[in-house]
Amino acid sequence: MKTRHIVPELRIYKRHLFLKLPKYKSIFKIQSTILKAARDYLYDKGFIELVAPVIAPVTDPGIREAREFDLSYYSEKAVLVTSAILYKLTGLKIHDKIFFVAHNIRKEPIDLRDFTTRLAEFRQIDIEITHIDRDELMRVSEDFLIHVIERVKRERSEELEKLKRELKVPRRPFKRIRFDDAVELVSEDGYGLDSAGELSKEAERYISETHEEPFWIIDFPAKIRGFYYKKKDSEHLLDMDLMYPEGFGEGASGGEREVDPLKVRDRMLETGTDPRKYIWLFEILYEGLPPCSGIGFGLERLTRYITGVKEIIDVTLFPKAPGYLGL
Ligand code: ASP
Ligand code: MG
Repeated sequence: MKTRHIVPELRIYKRHLFLKLPKYKSIFKIQSTILKAARDYLYDKGFIELVAPVIAPVTDPGIREAREFDLSYYSEKAVLVTSAILYKLTGLKIHDKIFFVAHNIRKEPIDLRDFTTRLAEFRQIDIEITHIDRDELMRVSEDFLIHVIERVKRERSEELEKLKRELKVPRRPFKRIRFDDAVELVSEDGYGLDSAGELSKEAERYISETHEEPFWIIDFPAKIRGFYYKKKDSEHLLDMDLMYPEGFGEGASGGEREVDPLKVRDRMLETGTDPRKYIWLFEILYEGLPPCSGIGFGLERLTRYITGVKEIIDVTLFPKAPGYLGL
């Protein structure tokens, strides 16, 4: 049976009954190679892998339309980690090039019509490096992505063929589009922003469909993204999203970090974040955090792009679509 003939409710709640489908076998063999290729690349370049927590006193508020999950943790209130960014910065005390394969848990809005891009639980290959700026981070990220794609093409050609995926190795450097220009571009064709001030899902899909190679959207408005990004000017950040082509949309977010504690506090106020929750981060910043940049590649979105499979629930072994518990 073809997965598109199975309603998403069964594909999520009865996943164990479908795992013997050849399609799932191919997808998860490819995902395993993606993880191995990512790790090999990073270890080769001198990174070490650290492990991020899932339960935290406070987490990254820069999650757009999503919300945090609260957790009653003994006598204290805790949250589930939405992004490991704060732990990446802290992890730089151990080594100057680190990565996690981090679990991110976000209360995304429920959408019974769309299972393409969002999960309430997903993984990020989350990278942080000291003493590099955004330009250098983009070069590293392009190199990383190309390495992973080449490896999958070399080692999983049979599986790609079974999935009928003709995957091209991207050419560098990837095109860069400023966020303001992207908004103008999509508005010419009637697309706009969502309630968080980001490109709407439809706009994102549209701009991605008009490209055949991965590209960057850079310089997001300072008000809509995490307080940890450094400003480029009074209104824009030194951050970026990696966009996959062919309609696959956003695949990674990152940027240059603000490490001046007073400026971080200003950024918190600018983004509506309560500074009282981040005493631990201020201590780290006063101790002295070197200039750094980092990015997180969504593992499931990368798998989706590489396999060419449309729905994100199909590239996740035990998917947690927003509002769906599954197994
Ligand atoms: N991983 C991103 C970063 O490193 C933050 C995010 O999760 O969106 O900046
Ligand atoms: Mg992102």
